[in-house]
Amino acid sequence: MSGLKLSNLSKCFGKAEVIRGVDLEIEDGEFVVFVGPSGCGKSTLLRMISGLEDITGGDLWIGDRRMNEVQAARRGVAMVFQSYALYPHLTVKQNMGFGLKVRKEKPAEIARRVEDAARTLQLGSLLDRYPRELSGGQRQRVAIGRAIVGHPDVFLFDEPLSNLDAELRVHMRAEIAALHKRLRNTMVYVTHDQIEAMTLADRIVVLRDGRIEQVGSPRQLYSRPDNIFVAQFIGSPK
Ligand code: ADP
Ligand code: MG
Repeated sequence: MSGLKLSNLSKCFGKAEVIRGVDLEIEDGEFVVFVGPSGCGKSTLLRMISGLEDITGGDLWIGDRRMNEVQAARRGVAMVFQSYALYPHLTVKQNMGFGLKVRKEKPAEIARRVEDAARTLQLGSLLDRYPRELSGGQRQRVAIGRAIVGHPDVFLFDEPLSNLDAELRVHMRAEIAALHKRLRNTMVYVTHDQIEAMTLADRIVVLRDGRIEQVGSPRQLYSRPDNIFVAQFIGSPK
């Protein structure tokens, strides 16, 4: 059981309150997409869930555990970033296994999980290459592979495809959808690409100025946006 519950969550940087009382429940296995203008708090919210940013107020639950004070590595959460953040001096195989090695998993177990993830993401032939020898799409697949091997309950994606060209984005979008279908774990995904949001999401959360403006299925938001602001982000005519 690893749904999420955000209860009156808030975050201040100094005097600036950038997340302002967010309430949201995400079901186990649900694919939820956050959209909203630059600076509205999407990344901050993901970083609060992952434990990279501490929580100023409210409560964060993952499954039945309150996570406010739990360190990032113990939350069962993996995050994939826009800038793949691969280690340049490590091979694909070593990059994918790095986190498990730090956690002192047995080498045989690391090898098994890396092979498994490589199969899922069709990285098998690339395992001994270095990041500089990969295309953008391949690098992003390695970054996703690195998240998969930890067997997280929850995946967080922060604009994972925005550095890719349009064609590759379409391809990777399909891969992420297939991954969700296969793993069936909870995914929270930030994008500013409306088509990505519409095709991937079970539900879309529209954020504005650190608050939730509207939550609903793509169809609900498309056909019944609460206001013009929401309509703009879902791409329906104003
Ligand atoms: P988004 O991902 O939606 O573009 P962010 O979550 O990155 O937005 O930022 C939300 C707000 O918080 C912005 O006003 C940003 O300037 C501010 N912010 C983010 N990180 C910090 C930080 N470490 N220190 C101060 N302000 C920050
Ligand atoms: Mg951001």
